[in-house]
Amino acid sequence: MAYTRRTFLKMAGASALCMTLAQLGFDTKEARAYATSLKIEGAKEVHSVCPFCAVCCQIIAHVKDGRLVSTEGDPDFPVNQGSLCAKGAALFTMYSSHHRLTKPMYRAPYSSSWVEKDWDWTFRQIARRIKDARDKDFIRTDSRGRTVNRLESVFSMGTSHASNEECAVIHQALKGLGVIHQDHQART
Ligand code: SF4
Repeated sequence: MAYTRRTFLKMAGASALCMTLAQLGFDTKEARAYATSLKIEGAKEVHSVCPFCAVCCQIIAHVKDGRLVSTEGDPDFPVNQGSLCAKGAALFTMYSSHHRLTKPMYRAPYSSSWVEKDWDWTFRQIARRIKDARDKDFIRTDSRGRTVNRLESVFSMGTSHASNEECAVIHQALKGLGVIHQDHQART
């Protein structure tokens, strides 16, 4: 058996708990039976990365019967060594929460209510509005006649849910449009 930091921590934790309980006179049979019924028992471990910030802590996702059942910090990853901040620790709820949005929601100008829209409608709206804004606001030259080719009325906020490759494509598309106002949710 190959020992990793994680294996060691698991074994040390389990041994310490059993020894302590046994020394206190508790019968550990029930606790052992309970441990085998934990929700991650028999689950497949998939290594992934926390999507919330640039630290990129590694996580272990437990998948059982095709469904995510738990996430935890990876003790073997040198950056986070098993720990996660409050956002990363709540990662599982991003998947399981009943508050999670799974369809586009739209609130029309001056309206106070949100309505559900399909993706085709949403993408058409986004494309239409970007095109209209660019046609209306594109600046070819500055006040001294120098070529600038920029669009100041569109702002882009990036997300760490996007991979490096996706970010590169998005960045190139924005540059092509002339968008100069860009920021990223993971900037610290
Ligand atoms: S949000 Fe927290 S857990 Fe996630 S990568 Fe950043 S520091 Fe790590």
